[in-house]
Amino acid sequence: MQTPFELPVSSPAVPQQLNGSAKIKFRCHKDVTCYNECCRQADIPLTSYDVIRLKGHLGISSTEFLKEYTFPFEMDNDRLPGIKLLHQEGTTTCQFMNDEGCGVYENRPMACRYYPVGHLSLRKQDVNDEEDHYFMVKESYCKGHEEDRELTIDEYRKEQEVEEYDVNSHMYRRLILKKKSGGPAIGTLSKNSLAFYFMATYDIDRFRDFVLSEGFEKAYEIPEDELVEAIKDDMKLLKLADDLMRQIFFGENLVKQREGAWEERAEKRQHIWDERIKEAQAERHKREQDMYRVEEEDSGVTGFCPDGTCGTNDP
Ligand code: SF4
Ligand code: SF4
Repeated sequence: MQTPFELPVSSPAVPQQLNGSAKIKFRCHKDVTCYNECCRQADIPLTSYDVIRLKGHLGISSTEFLKEYTFPFEMDNDRLPGIKLLHQEGTTTCQFMNDEGCGVYENRPMACRYYPVGHLSLRKQDVNDEEDHYFMVKESYCKGHEEDRELTIDEYRKEQEVEEYDVNSHMYRRLILKKKSGGPAIGTLSKNSLAFYFMATYDIDRFRDFVLSEGFEKAYEIPEDELVEAIKDDMKLLKLADDLMRQIFFGENLVKQREGAWEERAEKRQHIWDERIKEAQAERHKREQDMYRVEEEDSGVTGFCPDGTCGTNDP
């Protein structure tokens, strides 16, 4: 089935919505004249699973990976943070590209595997599960479209071993989709919620430290064996992160909170709220004073009228 959809005028995407059985004509190999041209014009967003694969490939922590190899961008109007791969300095070339090709090929990101197929996750109103759709991206420099090979999108996905990425990025996509489809009902996320989202989504090693912290232990009640398993396994930890985010953002009750933890936290934060209330009151008082301030320009004397009735021209 092919359904058209709208695109910005300059987009190289073909506005035809395709399903997995749709046939495409494409082949990429080392002898194409454009070999690696796509990696020289890289714009690669990363999922949480991409980070786990790439940090494993490089043998570094997620925190180091984010710092050295990515830059943040805003995914939507609510400033939901995403990350993209950094380029080689002063170019648009992916930093993992070398003379041989992709330096992280076995663990290359999902977007690289899918290319030149684009992936759309759509969720209909009142339906829980999202539907997968695809479209083609045809850049003028990419000669793979001129190759004489036809296959279905599902066959291409299999060839590129993208299915594992799809399964492991499901939580990531579902959360973003849910956030987007929730629209104004979810509200604007606070700075703290956005920072938590960033850590829980992309910085899995820092999230592990958070789960091991005293604050987490006091707030949440997770069976010991489940916790130990999650600490040892990035994917299980990611599942815990997803549950927590759904609990925080959408009010789903997925991670058991310790009895009295909320009250204890509220009590600890009471002094912060007291301070904020005092600041707000002082600010309001100052605004009221400014409203009634009377300037005596002729004499250069500034008067102040507390009840707003004694303007300089008044008797
Ligand atoms: S990660 Fe590899 S395949 Fe992807 S843009 Fe970089 S060099 Fe190319
Ligand atoms: S054929 Fe397309 S995907 Fe393959 S190297 Fe050339 S530009 Fe990249």
